[in-house]
Amino acid sequence: MNKGFTTRSLHTTFPQEDAYRALHMPIYDGVAFDFDSAETMEAVFSGRRAGHAYARTSNPTVEYFEKKVKNVTGAHAVLAFSSGMAAITTAILSMVGQGDNLVTSNRLFGHSYAFFKTTLPGFGIEVRFVDLTDEVALAGVVDERTRLIFFETITNPQLEILDISRLAAFAHARNLVLVGDSTTTPPNVFMARSFGVDVEVMSTTKFISGGAAAFGGVAIDHGTFAWEKVPALASWHSRFGIDALIARMRKEMFRHLGGSMTAHTAHFMNLGLDILTLRVDKCVDNCMKLGVFLKEQPQVKSVNYPGLPDHVLYDLAQLQFAGKPGAILTFDLASRSVCFDFMNALKVIRRATNLNDNKTLIIHPHSTIYSEFSLAERAEMKIPDTQMRLSVGIEDVADLMGDISQALSVI
Ligand SMILES: *Cc1c(COP(=O)(O)O)cnc(C)c1O
Repeated sequence: MNKGFTTRSLHTTFPQEDAYRALHMPIYDGVAFDFDSAETMEAVFSGRRAGHAYARTSNPTVEYFEKKVKNVTGAHAVLAFSSGMAAITTAILSMVGQGDNLVTSNRLFGHSYAFFKTTLPGFGIEVRFVDLTDEVALAGVVDERTRLIFFETITNPQLEILDISRLAAFAHARNLVLVGDSTTTPPNVFMARSFGVDVEVMSTTKFISGGAAAFGGVAIDHGTFAWEKVPALASWHSRFGIDALIARMRKEMFRHLGGSMTAHTAHFMNLGLDILTLRVDKCVDNCMKLGVFLKEQPQVKSVNYPGLPDHVLYDLAQLQFAGKPGAILTFDLASRSVCFDFMNALKVIRRATNLNDNKTLIIHPHSTIYSEFSLAERAEMKIPDTQMRLSVGIEDVADLMGDISQALSVI
């Protein structure tokens, strides 16, 4: 019987029986592991036998978190990283080589954008930025050296949503890997594989850790792409077949670049994943209620949340994200200085840059996250100086409404 998300998370069995029959996976904080013989050691090092040797490449507590994510997503394989950025950069670097190019949009999490814009070109990997909703433009930038398309499920702070199945059909018709960052729509609401995403990357720092307890990331291989078609993975495919991507990330990237998750972090992620559904449901419910509430306030010029029924992307959001299109909304006030006055008057909502924390957080993106970009670039990225981003948490919604009301009354 196919059990539900939370049951599967809570009852994922340990990779090995625990000596004390502990109900929680212990935190194996140590680095190195003992072998019963030289032969076993040889077998583990050669990959003929599963086992842990050194915690930079694998660790039991981290392995359990990977197993849990695999269990709840039904994925082919999962690898845990020290941060969302480590998951994104390692996955990309494993699939492209010098002279290759990839296609993405300029509506991206700021550091992903900066990685594509400034870091990758230095390694001879070209990144082509295009409006991913425009298939004609997209077809115009793809050539025989294009290897993948990278997108985010809900862009932030624009909150734009693509027709993912359509993008997948476009990619697969051209042998391109579809890589999706699903941080804002975790696996209890977005079934990436059924929309054609081949490789899913996620910052588990956000919804999965919940309380912003620790940094982390995951890369999920849905087992849908024929890795022999990716030149950077061809030799890995001949040795590891369908496991080519995961094998390269673990056996080459973790060894040469680092970036794996620690046992302590995995412990937090294991706790967070178990109660993910409860928290996401509450965050989305609160976000919906605040969206409706903000629209009723005369000082608020506009509200953007794809969960609101009059939103242009409402139907697509409902279809792709099981009726739960994230818990981030943006809204506009009269001017930048009114936004600052409003933020300064808040007493419950915190001024902070994180997303999908248990606490509700507010930021003025134009003056903070995007301050390094020129005014023209910010306009092009749709970051107005009248806008604030609210990442909605699990507080009692009446307290959030009360805080917003009192802050609006003093601006
Ligand atoms: C935060 C975030 C990242 C980066 O994750 P870290 O864990 O902070 O490294 C990547 N993508 C998206 C969409 C994010 O929100």
